[in-house]
Amino acid sequence: MDQSLFIYNTLTRKKEKFEALNPPHVGMYVCGPTVYSDVHLGNCRTFMSFDLVFRYLTHLGYKVRYVRNVTDAGHLEGDAGDQGEDKISKKAKLAQLEPMEIVQKYTVGFHDIMQVFNVLPPSIEPTATGHIIEQIELVKVILEHGYAYEVDGSIYFDVEKYNQNHNYSILNRRNLEDMINNTRDLGGQDEKRGALDFALWIKAKPEHLMKWPSPWSIGFPAWHLECSAMSAKYLGHQFDIHGGGIDLMPTHHTNEIAQNMAACDKMPANYWVHTNMLTVNGQKMSKSLGNSFLPQELFEGNHTLLNKGYSPMTVRFFMLQAHYRSTLDFSNEAMEASEKGFKRLMNSFTLLDNLNASSTTEVEIALLQQRCYDAMNDDFNSPVLIAELFEASRIINSVYDNKLKIDAKNLEMLKNLMNDFIIDVLGLKNEQAANDDLPKVLDMIVGLRNGAKMNKDYATSDRIRDGLQQIGFQLKDGKEGTTWSKM
Ligand code: AMP
Ligand code: ZN
Repeated sequence: MDQSLFIYNTLTRKKEKFEALNPPHVGMYVCGPTVYSDVHLGNCRTFMSFDLVFRYLTHLGYKVRYVRNVTDAGHLEGDAGDQGEDKISKKAKLAQLEPMEIVQKYTVGFHDIMQVFNVLPPSIEPTATGHIIEQIELVKVILEHGYAYEVDGSIYFDVEKYNQNHNYSILNRRNLEDMINNTRDLGGQDEKRGALDFALWIKAKPEHLMKWPSPWSIGFPAWHLECSAMSAKYLGHQFDIHGGGIDLMPTHHTNEIAQNMAACDKMPANYWVHTNMLTVNGQKMSKSLGNSFLPQELFEGNHTLLNKGYSPMTVRFFMLQAHYRSTLDFSNEAMEASEKGFKRLMNSFTLLDNLNASSTTEVEIALLQQRCYDAMNDDFNSPVLIAELFEASRIINSVYDNKLKIDAKNLEMLKNLMNDFIIDVLGLKNEQAANDDLPKVLDMIVGLRNGAKMNKDYATSDRIRDGLQQIGFQLKDGKEGTTWSKM
């Protein structure tokens, strides 16, 4: 079976055959969330898209080290992220909380929502505040190489100097003059030598909350720096895939490349992968535009644009029905269509165990399987894959209705295909089955607790009772035995 994977590389603007630097290992870095507020559905789309990439590479047998950072300091307001106030500090002041309380709250919230969407955790999830030393060291090297300068305790990257012997706009392909003309006159501009120069280290104003000592000032690292420092630390100076939303490409990733190149003259990643935006009425979903949805609002149907709620897996299915490089417009009608489609697919999935094999076959699953791989090998084309899975679903329904014959070998292949692609690669779960199974799981846990009690292992039996209570289930010990109820 031809298993060559092609990935669209923003760096070359072409689909390229994927060749890992050090197979079977793959290093992938994805820019994570800035944890100053709840993640909205647009953010979730980007992380679901990279979950698909992570899952498919793993399915192909690669051992992926997936690094996705958490930005918990240094991301300032404004497009480029290095002007204005630190997003987390600002929120902390408004809420009269420690910045780390804000970070903790929204990191936990982010993890919870990723789990609800069945997004696998990355292999490493480094934070900016946990890597201040690495970032200071990186600034030192860039300074030594002459590509940065100090003004009153702050360090700026010298884009003009860098561009003399590198190509600053290698990724965004913008004209430097145009970029300069489009730069708005924002804070810090008076200290910078060139309009495109950006901060590496920022001297903190006295009222700034999160700051650290450095050779230049008590201050904090700027946003772009953390990704350069942490990707190099965990994946080396050259790794396979760097990802993020397409909105990060023109500035954040452009500056990341400049920093890494200035430090060690190596393009950090071979493949630059960018996901497109979730939009609402054609406009990017964003917190600052005020058109963002929280996942919870979608589950509960608690939003003016919605006439009902949708389950997490319906939302995931909706996202996967679009290719990651296309924009996806959110609407109630689109959600309704996805809900129907997802139910149809999962209904046939549950029929799989009830199919009977015949001695002859009228279908060849190998061809269908090849088409599923072809779809994913064509730049992770999940909508085409889903169309193929609907073909599988039609086959299942016909066999179930005795309108089509399938032999044991093809039936086995069909089961594997559905499991591989629906569960492993697309990361979908059968929500209905999960709910139906809950009483059985609880009965089993109660049985384990009874066993512990019989062995006079009261510590364990109490731990089980308290644990269930924490997640909302009450146990009652009576004459007839133990019963459970939802609190
Ligand atoms: P942030 O927390 O703003 O740093 O964003 C986290 C990630 O979400 C980045 O990779 C962004 O590119 C991505 N992102 C932000 N808005 C959207 C959107 N509307 N659709 C898809 N991805 C988005
Ligand atoms: Zn980043």
